[in-house]
Order: sequence, then C-alpha cells, then structure tokens
Amino acid sequence: MENTKTLRHNWTKEELLEIYNKPLIELVYEAATVHREWHKADEVQISTLLSVKTGGCPEDCSYCGQAARYHTDIKVQALLPTETVIAHAQKAKDNGSSRFCMAAAWREVRDNSDFDRIIDMVKGVNDLGLEVCCTLGMLTENQAQRLQDAGLYAYNHNLDTSEEYYDEIISTRQFDNRINTINNVRKAGITVCSGGIIGLGETNEDRISMLRTLANMEKHPESVPINALARVKGTPLENNPKVDIWDMVRMIATARIVMPASMVRLSAGRIEMSETEQAWCFMAGANSIFTGERQTLLVTPNPGVSEDMQMLKNLGLKPLVKEKESACKAN
Ligand code: SF4
Repeated sequence: MENTKTLRHNWTKEELLEIYNKPLIELVYEAATVHREWHKADEVQISTLLSVKTGGCPEDCSYCGQAARYHTDIKVQALLPTETVIAHAQKAKDNGSSRFCMAAAWREVRDNSDFDRIIDMVKGVNDLGLEVCCTLGMLTENQAQRLQDAGLYAYNHNLDTSEEYYDEIISTRQFDNRINTINNVRKAGITVCSGGIIGLGETNEDRISMLRTLANMEKHPESVPINALARVKGTPLENNPKVDIWDMVRMIATARIVMPASMVRLSAGRIEMSETEQAWCFMAGANSIFTGERQTLLVTPNPGVSEDMQMLKNLGLKPLVKEKESACKAN
C-alpha cells in the first residue's frame, strides 16, 4: 500500500475505480489502516444540524423535499428567531456536539435583513464555543467574507453528484456554480464541507467522478459528507431503490483513502441502517455523524442523540471533543 501520509491531488479515474472495486474486505482493511494513520480511530465527530429556514426553495433538486415545486408533506417555515437558534445550539453542546450547522433552503444568499440575522446567529453560536457551519446556497466572495468575520468555521456546499450526471438531477443551476461557491468559501478562509449523495440513479463512474473532483481540489474539503438518498414522498426520486449498504461502505472507504486528512461524514440515510451496518461504515473510515434531539436531518428522519450515544458506546467509540485540536494527528 502506498504511503498515505502524502496528500495527493492528482487522482486518475482509473485509480479511483480500482480502489472502489477492490474486494470489499481488502478495501475496508486498507481504509481502516489509512484512518488510523491520520486520525484517532475511536473518535467520532458529533454535529447537529438545524434547519433555520425550511421549504419553499425555488431550485429543482430532484432528491429534495424542500423544493417548492414538489408536492411533499414538508411544512414551510420562515427564518427562525435568533434566540431560538441559539437555544438549540446550547442544547446541542450540552448533548455532546462539537459542531452546529444551520441550514436555510435558499438558492443563494441575498444581502438583506435575513442575511443580517444569519450573521447574528453565527456570532451567537460561535460565542458558545461551538464550531459553526452554515449551508445557505450560493455565496459571493463578499458574503463569504462577512460570514468569516462573524466567526463561521465551515460552509457546507455539496457537489451532489458528478459533473456528468448533474443535469439529470438539477436543472436550475450548473455544476460550475457549486465550484464557484466553494472557491469563494476558500478565498474567505472558511473550511469547506462538501460531499454528495448516492442512490440518485448514478453509475459507479459518476460516484468516482464526484469523489475525484473533491480529491483533486487544491485543498481537500475538511469535511466530506457521504449521503444515501432519503426517498422523500412527492419528489421525482421517491421510488428509487434503497441504497445498498455495501455501496455506502465502498464510497466511504474510497473517500477515506483518497482524502485521508478529511472528516468523512456518514450523513443522510442512517435511519435506514442497522447498528451493524453503521459499524461497517465506521470501520471503512467514517468519523463524523449528524445527530440531535429532534431526530431529523433537515426534513428527513434521523436517529436521536441518546440512540447514537448508545451505539457509540456499543462500538467502543466516543465523541470527538474538539476537531480543530485532536482529530487529525498529522496536522
Ligand atoms: S437541496 Fe437545497 S437548493 Fe436544492 S431544492 Fe433543496 S433546499 Fe433548495
């Protein structure tokens, strides 16, 4: 096995496919080895995600229940009051979270009073000593800078899928729009959280292409969420087949091997996985999850915090106290 202490940014499609298609046990062993070289393998970052503005989104992402054009059961909710958000953040901290993410179903950020309120939320959560993350849609360089000045630690902007398959999933924006926002986030000195979703009908080549875009960025995203499609009733993808657990394991393991220093997050889809299946994902190098009291991940079901804490205990894992200081032994 090659020396994984070097971060590479020139992966070829063939190399990634070879990793992804390895015999499963070999693949998990290699990923677990890389995981141990770069991280404390018994630590899992606990993040809490709160939807601060829900539904009514003008975009047409075919997997998303928050798109206004689909007839889903999701209740539209205007931007939450700042005090409510801060109270949720405090609870998340009390429950062991080290990162608090705020999501707004917007196409892009507008320079208006809602953005001013987001800035206040970022400041307030930052004052609690939590790492603050936001996902608000497309951002300009100036907006990214304002968020950074307010204390934003990370910005989530997923690639969703491969560049080649993008138009099949979303028609209201282009893949390049995603890359531009990620570049604006980087320029402002905010860390990047970017990954994607499997189960959208994409091929293995699409999955590899998406991972390759992430792994060949000048700087790897510090967090890489790997999501399994949550099939929301009323969306165009509601009848897609359930994602096979071994496909999740292969994606996580490949992400771990090609972006060894990053936090690889086992994100949407956990509710449909058994504890045993999640254990495979941790063995394959996942070291971050979303949890929370509300038992939702934005608008889809997610395990609750007490269930997750019991799972971590069963597996001999523990919450990461502060990612910035202890997650990566090599940094
Ligand atoms: S994924 Fe985000 S941008 Fe796409 S429809 Fe949902 S809320 Fe809007």
